[in-house]
Amino acid sequence: MTMAGDASNLPASNLPAPTIGPELYPQLLRQRFGIESFRPGQQEAIEHVLNGRNTLVVMPTGSGKSLIYQFSALAMPDTALIISPLIALMKDQVDRLQSRGIAATYINSSLSGDEQARRVKRLETGDWRLVYVAPERLRNQMFLNALRKARVSLLAVDEAHCISQWGHDFRPDYLHIGAVRSMLGDPVTVALTATATTDVQQDIIEQLRLPSAQRIITGFSRPNLVFHVRYTPDLHTKTQAIVKVLGIVKGAGIIYVGTRREAEELAMTLEGNYRVPSFVYHGGMEKTQRSLMQDAFLSTENAVMIATNAFGMGVDRPDVRFVVHYNIPGSVEAYYQEAGRAGRDGKLAQCMLLYAPQDRRLQEWFIENDAPSRNELIALHRELIKRARGGVVGVNIDDLARVTRLFEVKLRVGLSQLEATSTLERLDGETSLLRYAVNELTDPALESAQADVQRRRAHKRQQLAKMIAYAETTTRCRQRMLVEHFGDTSPLNARPCCDWHIREARGEAHPTFGNGTAPVDPGRTEEKVSSVAVTATLLTQGMNVKEVAVKRGLTISTIYHHAAQLIAEGQLELRRLITESVEDQVRRAIQEAGDTDRLSSIKMRLPASIDYGEIRCVVAAIRLEQKPPKAT
Ligand code: ADP
Ligand code: MG
Repeated sequence: MTMAGDASNLPASNLPAPTIGPELYPQLLRQRFGIESFRPGQQEAIEHVLNGRNTLVVMPTGSGKSLIYQFSALAMPDTALIISPLIALMKDQVDRLQSRGIAATYINSSLSGDEQARRVKRLETGDWRLVYVAPERLRNQMFLNALRKARVSLLAVDEAHCISQWGHDFRPDYLHIGAVRSMLGDPVTVALTATATTDVQQDIIEQLRLPSAQRIITGFSRPNLVFHVRYTPDLHTKTQAIVKVLGIVKGAGIIYVGTRREAEELAMTLEGNYRVPSFVYHGGMEKTQRSLMQDAFLSTENAVMIATNAFGMGVDRPDVRFVVHYNIPGSVEAYYQEAGRAGRDGKLAQCMLLYAPQDRRLQEWFIENDAPSRNELIALHRELIKRARGGVVGVNIDDLARVTRLFEVKLRVGLSQLEATSTLERLDGETSLLRYAVNELTDPALESAQADVQRRRAHKRQQLAKMIAYAETTTRCRQRMLVEHFGDTSPLNARPCCDWHIREARGEAHPTFGNGTAPVDPGRTEEKVSSVAVTATLLTQGMNVKEVAVKRGLTISTIYHHAAQLIAEGQLELRRLITESVEDQVRRAIQEAGDTDRLSSIKMRLPASIDYGEIRCVVAAIRLEQKPPKAT
C-alpha cells in the first residue's frame, strides 16, 4: 500500500507517496509537525510545489517559510536537498525534524570528515528525506558525486536573495546552484527569501533557471509595528530623540548606527549623560566579545543594544519593543529587515528612523568605496601571486585584509571579481581558508570588473534614493510604502501604522513622540543603578570581575560596564581590578590613539589578552582624573 490515500500512521521515514491531495494536508500537518493550521501563503506555496511548479516564496522572517519545503519534502517521493547559508541554524531544524521521526540530516563543516562521509554515503542510498547543506558544499566533489547517484525530487533554496548581486547579502557560492540544479535533472525547486525587491526576485528566477516560476508574496505588513521618521539635523537632536524613546517605550530595544565609532560614542553618551547602560556590537569586535554581547542582550531585561548592521542575523528575541535607526540605511530592504526585528511577539512596537539629510553622505561613501579600484585589484592579485605555491594560494581573509590594507568588504568583492573573471578558480573546501588556483590578470578581466562595479553602484544609488523618498515623504503611509516595495499589495489593516497616519487622524503631533521633552524612564535608570550598586558591593568585598559575573548570572562585559561607571564616579579604585602593568599598557595605547573616544583604536594597539572591559576601566579612571574638582 502506498501512503497516497492515507496520511494517518505515517511511517518514520521514506514516505513513498508521490504526492498527497490537499484534503490530507491538515492530517499530515498535525501528525508530523504538531501544527493545527497553515499560515497565509503556506498552503498555496505547497500546492504549487506538489503540482510540480517551481515556486518563489517571498515572505517575511518568522512567517514560516521552512514549513513549505519541510512539508513538501514529506509529501514527495525522494530526497529534498535544502541549501541554506546559515550553518548555525541547520542543526536546530534537523534536531526538531528528527524528534518528530523525520529522517533529516545536515552535512557541513561543523562535522568531522568521517561523519560527513557517512552522511554523504547515506544520501546515495536514499536514506534521507531532507538534507541540509551550505552552498559551499556544492563545490565538493565527493558530495557532487553522491548527488549524481542520489534521487532528488525537491530542491529548496533558502535565503535565496543571496544569489543576487543586487541583494545586500550576495554570496558568490550561490551562483553554482543553477548548474547543480541542471545536473540533478531540474527537480522542482522552491526558492525562499524574506527580502527581495522585484529586481531581486527577477534575478533569483534567472540565476536559478526557473522559467515560469510561481510567486507567492505575502505577509509583509506588520500590523503591530508603528513606523516613525524624526527629522534630527544634528547629534544633539538625535540623542534627544533616543532619550525620548527610552523614556516612553518600556522594554528591550535596538539602536542601529552607521559606524563602529558611532556605536561606541553613543554608548558612552547614553551611559555617561543619561545613565542608560547599553550593549555594543559591531564588526570590529572580536568574535567572542560579539557573542558575549549578543547573549547579554538576549538575556537582559530592558536591554538596549547599540549596533551596526553586523548585528541581527539569527538573533531571536521576540519582545524587542523598539528599533531606532540613528542614520538612514542604504536601502528600503535593509531598513525593513532591521526595523522588522521589533515586535516579533506580535505586540505593539515602535520603529523610528532619525533622519538628517547630510547622513546620506555616509551611505554615498559606502557606495563609492564598496569595491576595489583598478589599482587595488591589481595589487590584490599581485599579493596572491606572491603567496601562491605551485599556482595555488590559500587565503585567510583577516590576514589578507591586513596586508593589502583593504576593508573586508572590498576584499571579498575583489576576490569575487577575480573569480568571476576566471582570474581565480576556487578549489574545494568550506573552511575559513579559501583555496584558489591563480591565473594571470588580463586587461579584459580588469575592464569587466570595473564595468561590474559601475553597474552595481548605479543600482545602489537608486536604492538609496528610494530610502530617502521614504524618509522625506509627507503625503504617504509609511507602512504602505514599505510593503509595496516588496511587491506585496494585500490590504493593510495596521492601526496605527505610521506617524503620517497618526498625524492625519489627530490633526496634531503624535502625543507619544511629540516635541515635548521626556525624561528617561525612571524605572530603567533606577533598576540599573541598583544593579551597579550590587556589583560595587561584591567588587569591594574582593571578588574579581569574573566571579561577580558568575554569581550574578550577568556577562563579564556587563560587570566591566558597571565597574567603569563606579570608577568614573570615584566609588571604586582602579587597582582593585587592573594591575599596574595592564594600566600602563592601556595608558600608553591611549596616548598613541590620541583620545579615549574610540575604544577599538585603543584595543588595536594592545595585546589580545587585554580586553575591552579593562580598557573601559582605565578610560573611566582617566575621565575621573580630568573631571574638574567639585566646588564646595
Ligand atoms: P522563516 O523561515 O519564514 O523566517 P521559520 O520557518 O523559521 O520562519 O518559522 C518560524 C516559526 O514559525 C517556527 O517556530 C515554526 O515552527 C513556526 N510556524 C511555521 N508555520 C506555522 C504554522 N502554520 N502555525 C504555527 N507555527 C508555525
Ligand atoms: Mg527561514
